[in-house]
Amino acid sequence: MLKSIKFKLVIWCLAVFSLVFAGLEIYLYYKLEGVVISLVDDHLSTSVQSLANLLTIEEAHGQLEKELAELSSTATGDYAKSLSGHYYQVLSPDGEVVVRSPSLSISGASLPAMKGITETAKYETVTGPAGERMRMITKPVRYAVGHLTFQAADDLADTYLLVISFRNIILYIFPAVFILTIGGVFVITGVALKPLKRFSSKLGQITEENLNARVDSDGLDDELAPLASSFNMMLARLEGSFSRQKQFLSDASHELRTPTSIIRSYCDVTLGKERTVKEYKETLNKVSTSVNRMCEIINRILVISRLDAKTIEWKPARIDLFDIMKDVVKLLEPAAAGKDVVLKLKGVSAVVKGDREGLTEALTNIVENAIKYNKPDGRVDMTVKEDGGIAPFGEFAVVSVADTGIGIPEGEREKIFDRFYRVDASRGVTVGSGLGLSIVRTIVEAHGGGIEVESETGRGSTFVVRLPKNLDLKNGD
Ligand code: ADP
Repeated sequence: MLKSIKFKLVIWCLAVFSLVFAGLEIYLYYKLEGVVISLVDDHLSTSVQSLANLLTIEEAHGQLEKELAELSSTATGDYAKSLSGHYYQVLSPDGEVVVRSPSLSISGASLPAMKGITETAKYETVTGPAGERMRMITKPVRYAVGHLTFQAADDLADTYLLVISFRNIILYIFPAVFILTIGGVFVITGVALKPLKRFSSKLGQITEENLNARVDSDGLDDELAPLASSFNMMLARLEGSFSRQKQFLSDASHELRTPTSIIRSYCDVTLGKERTVKEYKETLNKVSTSVNRMCEIINRILVISRLDAKTIEWKPARIDLFDIMKDVVKLLEPAAAGKDVVLKLKGVSAVVKGDREGLTEALTNIVENAIKYNKPDGRVDMTVKEDGGIAPFGEFAVVSVADTGIGIPEGEREKIFDRFYRVDASRGVTVGSGLGLSIVRTIVEAHGGGIEVESETGRGSTFVVRLPKNLDLKNGD
């Protein structure tokens, strides 16, 4: 549950919603409070201005003192009621209260003392005589007698009712909107994730048995369609690799069956009656040949599986392919002589960075084939040279092995690099596993190189291996 996308989406949405909602509420609350306070301030300013104007007119008639004494008697409405929450008072230049609205004077109260001297109108929120929260203006006005300071104050309780009720409405609305949001997000995420569920159930139906099935991307959302096509591509790769494995297994069993059958039939026939020592020796020789063939096949299968699993540890070193070819010639000369085939090596040294054992194995295989599939009195011409780049520094080391053998039919030239593939015509010439060239190609490609073949049926073949020289060997390894 905690790990479900739906749950996480709901939590995220609610967190964002709560933050936005709370932020908006705080902003609107203070904005409304500001508006309300400024309305009260405007009202206070107008009240004080009216009083000040009244006194200015009286001063013009020389009756300021008289009017000051009578000013409180002009108060009406809330200003005339005791502690009504609406007050005014006038202070003399030395800070003495000279006039009070009856709402103050009846109960002998005063507005809070003015803090400091003010030149302009000053607004503040204070505690009134009845302990109420009030907004108060303090404004000095110049007269002939000196500065008179006018103060007026209004209770904020009524005005705050609006702010408080706004806050309460928001607080009541919030849980309702919160619950609605949870529901909404649940529904929306449910709908949004439905295609993903359908998609995953489709994937769940694909097993080893129906790897050829594909996820239909028609009708899938834009976000899922690329996922479906990537998945289909992965399925295609998996299917290919599965079928290659199956093919490999069946080819391997097929190849091993022949020598096994030979061993069994020789053993059966020989053990069918008493034999002479010579006959037992003959049978053992034939069994030994078949066992050797099986060993060769099994060894090659092992090499291939290690190459596939990439568990072969290449040991890169600077190696001269010309030196390797000299070793190969030395190794295979007896076999070539046995088939009346002449080996000729020429060329120059070509140093590459590579694994000596792997490259020796690959080149030996090619020359071995050139001898195996050759004709009596045939030749194998081998050259080592550099190619590409700016002379004398070639970009590639190139080894070519040309024979005068049976050749390879055109349609078969690419297939001979497949596992267990053998050209039918060559089956009559010699035994083989059909694994050698596939190992050769894997080794050459692991070194960043490539192998090509040119051939003319009945006249011979030329195998060309190109390896990047990669001479940037700073460690000199
Ligand atoms: P193997 O030689 O054990 O059969 P390879 O993988 O080395 O297996 O070769 C695959 C097939 O390619 C051989 O069976 C043969 O038909 C063909 N082939 C390889 N090299 C040559 C060659 N030099 N001349 C003619 N045919 C060849």
